[in-house]
Amino acid sequence: ALKGKRAIVTGSNSGIGLGVAVELAKAGAEVVINSFTDTPEDHALAAKLAADHGVPVRYIRADMSKGDDCRALIEQAGGCDILVNNAGIQFVAPIDEFPVERWDAIIAINLSSAFHTTAAALPGMRAKGWGRVINVASAHGLTASPFKSAYVAAKHGVVGLSKTTALECAGQGITCNAICPGYVLTPIVEKQIPDQMKVHNMSREDVIKNVMLSRQPSGDFATVEQIGGTAVFLCSDAAAQITGTTISVDGGWTAM
Ligand code: NAD
Repeated sequence: ALKGKRAIVTGSNSGIGLGVAVELAKAGAEVVINSFTDTPEDHALAAKLAADHGVPVRYIRADMSKGDDCRALIEQAGGCDILVNNAGIQFVAPIDEFPVERWDAIIAINLSSAFHTTAAALPGMRAKGWGRVINVASAHGLTASPFKSAYVAAKHGVVGLSKTTALECAGQGITCNAICPGYVLTPIVEKQIPDQMKVHNMSREDVIKNVMLSRQPSGDFATVEQIGGTAVFLCSDAAAQITGTTISVDGGWTAM
């Protein structure tokens, strides 16, 4: 269904980004995957995706903490029909102890990168009269948790940016929406488990069940395939009038 469309997914050599890239490739899109590294494994991953799904896949290195790199990614790819802003990092500390350097990095990678890539991608989409901008926000784009000030601020910012992008593109065949996942068991979440075990003096199992998934009424993690499937849906004709909004994939988190 997405044959002939080129998708760029930022931060996609692991986790949700990779899951989204896989689902877009399955749906027939040409895919550009990205991270800030440039290893043989990165390029092998692109080759594997291409072989598995019979679509062109390229890996392009670009550091989403740098505005120039963000814009260069879009240019090097030759523009895109589908832009998925997914790159993101996390850091957890009280506001008065939050390292300034971590604050700046989270705002740059989780929020400003989407501004830069969107700015670079929109002219090409407008020229074709079709485009999809999909921002991977979070349940933390709609609600807060203590100790995640930078992340929560950046993700609320992404939701706001998505609405503004939608309004500026309305009536031009271009939609912009934010997907708001609850907890998905990816490396970014794995990394939080040891800290949470210490803070709560709990076992891994108890942290997962009683801390992380306590916010998720379904009691289950969302999966990268489900986030990818949501992205594919947002690219479909059925979603052509869905713009400037959020789609939660959070097991009921934001219903509470
Ligand atoms: P992850 O750590 O597996 O993936 C993050 C990706 O971003 C990786 O591919 C990493 O290489 C890339 N990245 C990091 N810094 C980068 C940089 N400077 N430049 C380019 N790429 C960079 O984590 P994930 O869970 O897959 O997270 C993906 C997105 O989903 C993030 O925006 C995250 O905030 C969001 N999210 C995750 C969850 C969850 O529970 N896992 C929930 C809600 C939202």
